[in-house]
Amino acid sequence: MNGPFSSLMTFPPTRHSALERLAQFVPHAGADYAAHRNSDFGPDRPSSVSRLSPYLRYRLITEMEVVNAVRDQHSFNDAEKFIQEVLWRTYWKGWLELRPEIWRRYEKEVERLTPLYANDKMLAAALSGRTGIDGFDDWVHELLGTGYLHNHARMWFASIWIFTLKLPWALGADFFLRHLLDADPASNTLSWRWVGGLQTQGKTYLATKENIARFTGGRFAPEGLAAFAEPLVDLPFPEPATLVSLKPHDPTSGSVLLLHPEDLHPESLFDHSFRFETLYVVNDPSFFWGQRAFDFVSSAIDDLIPYSEERFQAPVKLINAPDIGQIINEANAKTIKQIITPYAPQGLVASWIQAQRHKIENAGLSLVIKRRDWDGAFWPHATKGFFPFKEKIPKLLNRFRAP
Ligand SMILES: Cc1cc2nc3c(=O)[nH]c(=O)nc-3n(C[C@H](O)[C@H](O)[C@H](O)COP(=O)(O)OP(=O)(O)OC[C@H]3O[C@@H](n4cnc5c(N)ncnc54)[C@H](O)[C@@H]3O)c2cc1C
Repeated sequence: MNGPFSSLMTFPPTRHSALERLAQFVPHAGADYAAHRNSDFGPDRPSSVSRLSPYLRYRLITEMEVVNAVRDQHSFNDAEKFIQEVLWRTYWKGWLELRPEIWRRYEKEVERLTPLYANDKMLAAALSGRTGIDGFDDWVHELLGTGYLHNHARMWFASIWIFTLKLPWALGADFFLRHLLDADPASNTLSWRWVGGLQTQGKTYLATKENIARFTGGRFAPEGLAAFAEPLVDLPFPEPATLVSLKPHDPTSGSVLLLHPEDLHPESLFDHSFRFETLYVVNDPSFFWGQRAFDFVSSAIDDLIPYSEERFQAPVKLINAPDIGQIINEANAKTIKQIITPYAPQGLVASWIQAQRHKIENAGLSLVIKRRDWDGAFWPHATKGFFPFKEKIPKLLNRFRAP
């Protein structure tokens, strides 16, 4: 088969690499992707998927850029499958944003289960890839070695974890978050819930030997997998909230920009009406579940600093999470009135920003949060299942095309 890539299990942490990868992938985003995207022939074999997820996750490139690049070379119909997959990301982000309680429940569940399973032999075998299950053990090693798994492998893995090994889904989701480069609270938690039957209620995903053998080109054919996938049970969904409206920035007041790992492309978020005295980039191991993702983002930040300095004609300073006081002191010394920051969806950065708010406001500064138009347009429609959301995609996408 003709995939766009040969040996690709490294992810150079730069926007330039993301753009290169996108350019290589775009010609394959139509029929090739639709026909072959479910096949996973192994980490060092050509593949029909884009492997753009670590770049999209931290917004080194944006969903809008990816979808528009694809639409420049394909009709909507030809590339519909790929566009829909990108929009699954947007949908999951919006769904969780409207129901933050689901994220909090997940965090509490991991906290509750971790000590209970500290000496569990099955969990230890699963985490170290020693279950004896063909494929499953290989995916553990692939994940630990590369920080990436193909979507189908993630589905098989989660299904075997829940229904064959009978381990708690939340601990599997936690294992993924600690090792995936693209570790994402929404896509990860909600996909695990989807496999377990908690997301589309009553509908589970059952991995089978035949399906695995077919889509791995015969690499794996595990015996002894669960024959049934009884849906898990959970508390009912909370009602979806409405997206909070955000106060706009005041262009007449002095501002600094506070960048963070949830959105690392300020050039496309802040137009020329924004002027910043200083750009602060906050990065910290406490914003990540795993070292690999932290290292990826740290290098990406080193790479973006010179571009941002040039684009915004302002000095860029790198700070750690505990050093917010430095920003406040420097802002007050320069009669700055606003700290402007990109919106951080549910996750560790969002919790950190929330915790800083009172310190910022107590110091007489205002915290202005800027949400991307893309998120503001799509997220309010993530109130029900993906099907009604999908219906809205073509019309909403037109807002993001240059006339
Ligand atoms: C159990 C499980 C856990 C997952 N955890 C994560 C996670 O932590 N972070 C993450 O980004 N994705 C997660 N996914 C979704 C999906 O597996 C990855 O986004 C995809 O494999 C990334 O590879 P790619 O870039 O080659 O995708 P492509 O097929 O090339 O798709 C392009 C982009 O669309 C988005 N996308 C594609 N499929 C999905 C999907 N099913 N759900 C949401 N977005 C999608 C991704 O941003 C991806 O980069 C998970 C899926 C499962 C089943």
